[in-house]
Amino acid sequence: MDMIDRFIKEVEYAYENVPFYKKKLDEKGVSPLTLDASNLLQELPFTNKKDYRVNFPLGVLAKGFSINHPMLTKSQSSGTSGERLVTFEIGMNLLQRAVECARAHPVIFEAFTKPGRKICRYAAPNCSDVECANPNSTMEDRRLADGTLVLPVYHDLLTTTKEMIDRTIEEIEVYKPDLFYVDPTHFAFLIRQYENRKLTPPAIPVVTSYSAASAISRKYISRYYPESTLFSELFSSSEMGWLAMRCPEGHIHLNDESFFIELIAPTGIAEGASHFYELCVSSIDQGALPHLRYRSGDIVSVSETQCSCAHGGRIVQIEGRESHFLKRSNEGLISPANIDRIVGAPEWMQLYRLEQMNEDRFVLQMIVEEKYHAGNEQDIVRELAALLEADVQFEVVDYIPSDRSGKFQYIKRSP
Ligand SMILES: [Zn+2]
Repeated sequence: MDMIDRFIKEVEYAYENVPFYKKKLDEKGVSPLTLDASNLLQELPFTNKKDYRVNFPLGVLAKGFSINHPMLTKSQSSGTSGERLVTFEIGMNLLQRAVECARAHPVIFEAFTKPGRKICRYAAPNCSDVECANPNSTMEDRRLADGTLVLPVYHDLLTTTKEMIDRTIEEIEVYKPDLFYVDPTHFAFLIRQYENRKLTPPAIPVVTSYSAASAISRKYISRYYPESTLFSELFSSSEMGWLAMRCPEGHIHLNDESFFIELIAPTGIAEGASHFYELCVSSIDQGALPHLRYRSGDIVSVSETQCSCAHGGRIVQIEGRESHFLKRSNEGLISPANIDRIVGAPEWMQLYRLEQMNEDRFVLQMIVEEKYHAGNEQDIVRELAALLEADVQFEVVDYIPSDRSGKFQYIKRSP
């Protein structure tokens, strides 16, 4: 069945089984029976996070499911754009989506699908979906049914104590995981801790998720985990699961097998007026919480590059959450990834955060390595100032707080 037929089947399923979609389509006068490839995208309305928050759970769950249904897996957003969103999906559907996505990177695929595989997770406690990510819990408390050990870490990453880091390194040693499933900033931090102790982290595949990997995180991770073999970046959402993954050739491929994904003009921007696209995602697997034309708020740019790997998914660059974009005085939009491409991964830089103080003033906070010399940052500061058309000051600091969600945001927009 081709993709558009699978999508139409999902529309019929959602209309028949989900009160929110029945009501929404009826209101718009759209009947699934008259939809085909020629009129589908003109007639079918978009949906967004608010629809799911307002109608959760009864309005958006498919017939036959309740939030206590034994086949369902719960996940929740870390609340990066304000309110947290709780969602559910059939565990098998989520697994199938993940497996399809992982095909982009054969080494990750093999580690993830290996029977009895063990995973170590290292990310903000909020993102780990388990109460037991609480740092004072025992190793047993933090073991999940699927073979994952959630490693302990403080909510505010850089305040994690030396004792806890020692414990984390020891737990990895004892647990002998087959795969790391980690937040990139957190894992780069952990790698520096190994280095401080003159230790080497285990050579197993690493997949980063939860937030975009900055060039600096990638610098630390790829010292031990080359991107062509052991390290891949996953792009996933709490609502839909695994949406895209980087292949060994270095390209991020969309999971076009598990989802019907449209690239649409971001809110408030006319089509064709920018090179940014919002991921608009539809499920196609008749699950517990179908999503039709769901505006994810995740922005990508499209790459014309061809990839020599076997994965057929479209190639995109992840630019960041729409809510994290910076607006320039002349109305231009600057993505978090754009900022990160300018900062890059200089040898002397350990971590940074660019904070917008007001419309025309930014502060670049940097934690630096020993090899840093005053003035090293001048090119970066000059380029940022030119791009942002604003005054950019910098300061060398020894601490940068994590976001309220526990994630580390390298861009902080003025409120
Ligand atoms: Zn590829």
